[in-house]
Amino acid sequence: MARVYNFSAGPAVLPEEVLREAADEMLDYRGCGMSVMEMSHRSKPFAAIMEAAEQDIRDLMDIPDNYRVLFLQGGASTQFAMIPMNLMKNKVADYIVSGSWSKKAFKEAKIFGDARCVASSEDENFSYVPDVRALQLSDDADYVYICQNETIYGTVYHELPNTNGKPLVADVSSCFLSEPMDVSKYGLIYGGVQKNVGPAGVTIVIIRDDLVSEPLPGTPTMLRYDTHVDAKSLYNTPPAYGIYMCGKVFQWLKAQGGLEAMKERNVEKAQLLYDFLDQSALFKGTARKEDRSIMNVPFVTGSDELDAKFVAEAKKVGIESIKGHRSVGGMRASIYNAMPREGVEALVRFMGEFERENA
Ligand SMILES: *Cc1c(COP(=O)(O)O)cnc(C)c1O
Repeated sequence: MARVYNFSAGPAVLPEEVLREAADEMLDYRGCGMSVMEMSHRSKPFAAIMEAAEQDIRDLMDIPDNYRVLFLQGGASTQFAMIPMNLMKNKVADYIVSGSWSKKAFKEAKIFGDARCVASSEDENFSYVPDVRALQLSDDADYVYICQNETIYGTVYHELPNTNGKPLVADVSSCFLSEPMDVSKYGLIYGGVQKNVGPAGVTIVIIRDDLVSEPLPGTPTMLRYDTHVDAKSLYNTPPAYGIYMCGKVFQWLKAQGGLEAMKERNVEKAQLLYDFLDQSALFKGTARKEDRSIMNVPFVTGSDELDAKFVAEAKKVGIESIKGHRSVGGMRASIYNAMPREGVEALVRFMGEFERENA
């Protein structure tokens, strides 16, 4: 068996130990005589899986007691609508648009009320995070929205906006569990798990109690946070197997030393790649230095032809899915929690060889 180094932005690499454990339990989950995939979501073994998963993510992120954790479906994109439907009481919300994902969320919110773009970095193809110290927020805004790590452009907030007491809502899809975060600074945190946490199909929402309330009139039952809070994410059939896999990843993260340890490792891995990019005569990172993400690293050679050649040759040596998103072009290395340091070392080594042969 030969596993490649998978730099895909998502669905993305998962820890090998987790995949092996899931494979071992595939036909018979701990003496149940069936796979978790075949199990009632109301059964005792599944209830235990769900309970452990919630407790483990609470432990990992140190989630305060006045926050609920929901395991939902519909991807991060469904949250683009669920957030305004449930939170936009005054029908006003402030959005910081720092990339394609926050732009999509902003556009969706406009369906439900007066969503206002209070800062944007679109003028320079989202290569930086707007200055959050100079924000003019709306007095009557129900919340302030950010996408904390922009997966496509490889930028991250190193400082959170001061929201003057308004709930901060953050899409953390591509930086979930990559480092510790102070949950109490947010009203709502959410992410699709297929980037850094688990298989596609699960969206985790962490919401402060006081924000779980009557939504806008006409909100469908499935799109109300209170539905899922009241039913503890079991209003209908949850994405059961995906939750089980997320639970395994939480256990793996605990065994790795938790989020402080992950951060240290993630920073080291990213530094390896950025150090190479900063001295390279051929490759160039596309995000502004101060705002660079430790999860997604976009880079280009400046020549579409060389970019394509790089992607093709990389694939031959087991460096997979390194092609950049079409809106940036070039390459993107997504170096999530489960990407081993050796993977980044192999990439940097290959980039060096490619540079010598093609510069
Ligand atoms: C991938 C991604 C999304 C979209 O996720 P889906 O689960 O496909 O809807 C939203 N936001 C960010 C930051 C992402 O990386």
